[in-house]
Amino acid sequence: MKCLFLFLDGVGLGPDNPSVNPFARASMPNLHNLLGGNRLLLSALQKPKLRTADQPSHGLSGLSRGPALVTARATLLGLDACLGVAGLPQSASGQAALLTGQNVPASLGFHYGPKPNPAVAEFLRNGNLFNTLEKSGRNTALLNAYPPRYFSAIQSGRRLYSAIPLAVTSAGVALKTSQDLVTGRAIAADFTANGWRTQLGLKDTPILSTRDAGERLANLAQNYDFSLFEYWLSDYAGHGQDMEAACSLLETLDQVLGGLLDAWDDWSGVILLTSDHGNLEDLSTRKHTTNPVPALLIGAPELRASWLQFASRAALARIQAETTHTDSKKQNEEWLNLTDVAPAILGFLGTRVGI
Ligand SMILES: [Zn+2]
Repeated sequence: MKCLFLFLDGVGLGPDNPSVNPFARASMPNLHNLLGGNRLLLSALQKPKLRTADQPSHGLSGLSRGPALVTARATLLGLDACLGVAGLPQSASGQAALLTGQNVPASLGFHYGPKPNPAVAEFLRNGNLFNTLEKSGRNTALLNAYPPRYFSAIQSGRRLYSAIPLAVTSAGVALKTSQDLVTGRAIAADFTANGWRTQLGLKDTPILSTRDAGERLANLAQNYDFSLFEYWLSDYAGHGQDMEAACSLLETLDQVLGGLLDAWDDWSGVILLTSDHGNLEDLSTRKHTTNPVPALLIGAPELRASWLQFASRAALARIQAETTHTDSKKQNEEWLNLTDVAPAILGFLGTRVGI
């Protein structure tokens, strides 16, 4: 069973307001289709289903906590990224929560980013999706290719790992290189590798079409039990507050998604598209937002149901630990959050090793 984690930095579920939200404006036919004619907006989620994991469920939405949109190929949920901590969610602590299943911001007492501080780094090294899965015999990969200058900057100490490469390298998994990109074993951060030519000056880098990049994501994911692709340009576009650039970025992303969806076998595993915090969905501010982030699960209904059951189980245990048994209303209304993702992936992939 496979799990492809498509990580989009800085993408929340925002309002249906095309003057501030590029998701309400950009032409994204593949995503639109996948979501049964809905855009990736908070309004795509239906009214809350007040059903817990251990009650009988009728349909996939009953397996999740909080509101959900269920279509033929996908289930969309919202994840709380604030994690009970004041302030705006940040990348290092949010990504660490996704990768470890631990409420890292609550342990720190604040949200932190963009790069991990020593405390966040410690959480990541102690146990994350990559090293936990590798220890239990699953193979994992980060599908991004890194240029030579990245490795030299890390080696010289001029650059610190961000949370995801730190998690990967702490598992003993090698980051992919320019050679991997050339030989089709990795994907550039901008999907097409155009930036490798124009910004890094690596003129010989082969360019992929957006559709081919999506197809390559699907094909590479079949080589691993768990693979992740990190797309951080979405957070940059959010900070940039340029609506035209943001829409153009989303339209590129949608073409990649088209190639990915055409090549993906829904019975081979699930694709999870999620984020660490909101940003891009509200260009009225150059800061992050407190909006929930999307958790878009793509795959056969039975596989989605399995994934959601593990996520709900994790959420229920977490919520019961936080609230009294008499506070059942609060328990029912609580949404999934970032910390429910790692246990859901581990459960889905059949590993019993906790992190
Ligand atoms: Zn940011």
